[in-house]
Amino acid sequence: MKAAVVSKDKVVKIEEKELRALRPNEALLEMECCGVCHTDLHVKDGDFGDASGIVLGHEGIGKVVAIGDDVTSLAIGDRASVAWLYESCGSCEYCVNGNESLCRSVRNAGYSVDGGMAEECIVVADYAVKVPEDLGSAEASSITCAGVTTYKAVKVSDIKPGQWIAIYGLGGLGNLALQYAKNVFNAKVIGIDINDKQLDFAKDHGADLVINPAKEDAAKVIQEVTGGAHAAVVTAVSKAAFNSAVDAVRAGGTIVAVGLPPESMDLNIPRLVLDGIKIVGSLVGTRTDLAEAFQFAAEGKVVPKVVMRQLEEINDIFDEMLSGQIKGRMVIDFQEK
Ligand SMILES: [Zn+2]
Ligand SMILES: [Zn+2]
Repeated sequence: MKAAVVSKDKVVKIEEKELRALRPNEALLEMECCGVCHTDLHVKDGDFGDASGIVLGHEGIGKVVAIGDDVTSLAIGDRASVAWLYESCGSCEYCVNGNESLCRSVRNAGYSVDGGMAEECIVVADYAVKVPEDLGSAEASSITCAGVTTYKAVKVSDIKPGQWIAIYGLGGLGNLALQYAKNVFNAKVIGIDINDKQLDFAKDHGADLVINPAKEDAAKVIQEVTGGAHAAVVTAVSKAAFNSAVDAVRAGGTIVAVGLPPESMDLNIPRLVLDGIKIVGSLVGTRTDLAEAFQFAAEGKVVPKVVMRQLEEINDIFDEMLSGQIKGRMVIDFQEK
């Protein structure tokens, strides 16, 4: 089978690979599609350590064509995910307490184990989340990473219906965060981005207030118009956005960090203590979060923007990513051969 394999010289090579036999509790997926994520770019470049020889891909959707012994959670013909959370230990305090994505022994698809950017992929059946019938595979691939990440971030912000939530950054993650916040959590949404096109998109998707921080002070506008947001989700890879979010929330507000600028944020300790501000990091989501995120997308509450591409274009897609040309999610199509 053809697979996108990370090579030592930091490009992705399309190689022929032979899959090993299935072990108990595993399933074989014939891949339908796999989204391309910024994280894949980091894996390819060795930013998280040498990953040469690994098959990329943690936004995969495939059809089950074989199951190993003892599999009960999937059946042949089901569609299921290949997600960043490929498998966790299942018994540590994080796994037992509903925080399996924090498991210290977690295995990640397309990084520490072969992922879904291939014609076929072996998954641990209990960790491959079934895709609802009403959800297309390309859309589901986007939900498998960007969707569940933003759904979980809005969930941990603890936003209530009618409350104000500020979404910093309206790109691939932020536009999904906006839709989950608006259409699932019934919040009032403030969209913040330095790109006016993204703000137009946010308005079209029901944002109640949009702000371009290159033109006005976002925190000041939010304080004036809303009295302070109840929560903020920061997907922007920008220290300035994190600092603005701290100033934009009201007392008791929660800031959820999703974007990963390689810096520290400024945090005024009296502001933190006297106003009871909460700052939490949020990393992907659990299998239950993914099942919920899939279901809301199947109900049409969240619609990812996807563009179908061919496997051979993978290095071009990374170049486009680096030059900021990507609009929507690029999804490798394995069905058109
Ligand atoms: Zn991803
Ligand atoms: Zn664990």
